[in-house]
Amino acid sequence: MDIKKADQHFIHTYNRNITFEKGEGMYLIDDNGKKYLDMGAGIAVSALGYSNEEYKQGLKDQIDKLIHVSNLYFNEPAVKAAGYLCEASGMDRVFFTNSGAEAIEGAIKLARKYARTKNPQNKGHIIAMEHSFHGRTMGALSVTGTKHYREPFEPLIGGVSFAKYNNLDSVKDLVTPDTCAIILETLQGEGGIHPASEDFIKGIRALCDEKDILLILDEIQCGMGRTGKMFAFQHYGICPDILTSAKALGCGVPVGAFAAKEEVARALVPGDHGTTYGGNPLATAAVCKVFEIYKKEHILEHVCELTPYLQDKLTKLAAKHECITDVRGIGFMQGIELNIAAGTVVNAALEKGLVLISAGTNIIRIVPPLIAEKEHIDSMCSILDEILTEL
Ligand SMILES: *Cc1c(COP(=O)(O)O)cnc(C)c1O
Repeated sequence: MDIKKADQHFIHTYNRNITFEKGEGMYLIDDNGKKYLDMGAGIAVSALGYSNEEYKQGLKDQIDKLIHVSNLYFNEPAVKAAGYLCEASGMDRVFFTNSGAEAIEGAIKLARKYARTKNPQNKGHIIAMEHSFHGRTMGALSVTGTKHYREPFEPLIGGVSFAKYNNLDSVKDLVTPDTCAIILETLQGEGGIHPASEDFIKGIRALCDEKDILLILDEIQCGMGRTGKMFAFQHYGICPDILTSAKALGCGVPVGAFAAKEEVARALVPGDHGTTYGGNPLATAAVCKVFEIYKKEHILEHVCELTPYLQDKLTKLAAKHECITDVRGIGFMQGIELNIAAGTVVNAALEKGLVLISAGTNIIRIVPPLIAEKEHIDSMCSILDEILTEL
């Protein structure tokens, strides 16, 4: 496709120059027939890879039955999907959205409403983290830690302050009687692949319990099996009060969710929140299929089994190349920190038929489909080795 022509009717918010036409397993194919190994999974979305037969059939069957009804009625796939999500997360009630950002919006509304049902004077203040990413809508942007994403769009929602991730004292310093929630990613994605330390996350949980503050964990990116558990918080033996999910929740069909424990969820009553599309039968049929295929194909076990292999390969790569300053992450969510621009490596990789994505300016973010095998890890590492040697 002529890239200039392709771009003429889009608002220019992305720099892009490849047109993908189809996908097959771990591979994407562009409009010239060139094949790419995909280690980015559409930004941690396509956990089952591309063209999974059972997933596609589930969607086709649902299209034949019913694509959409409003939330004025129940629909069967949504009921089933809500049950699966609660069972997998330990939450009690779910609200389905169309995106991650909308899940965050809902989580913020729920936290504020809950605080006010307990104390009508509560000002609904929220503590978020520096370098966090929660989405691009006004509420989600308000709790996003990166200044240059926020500042051009101010005024945002008020009452948000930012603490240092993995620094419990910096969170404690910001707590006031008006704090209604603390929001964080269990493993920061966009901000550079930073996992929460065990002390930090347990300390936050204890702080929230002590001060009657809600803990919102954003697992839009790190959830749905990416770390080898269905949700990353399950590595830490704690549980949030409100959980957000999206990205791999639908494995390609746009769907998100916020979920909460019973006592918290009850704060939202008819009329408080709504959505036209959210949780429609097509989207939630995808969610159902995702949970069913994860179980049948032992996706979590597969991630756990291959993680040491991936980490070992990345560590060896780091030992060989001075420009790699750190490797970190959990499961199939790994970051390679460089002392050079990540964009240079991403572009060189595309040339060689490897799709990688960056996080921030100098981190390569490895978030492959969860079906990746050793051979795919090998081939990614050998291409990376080639590129870093040439640079
Ligand atoms: C991607 C992402 C979001 C936003 O999701 P959208 O579907 O793009 O709105 C929010 N939080 C985290 C942690 C994310 O990675």
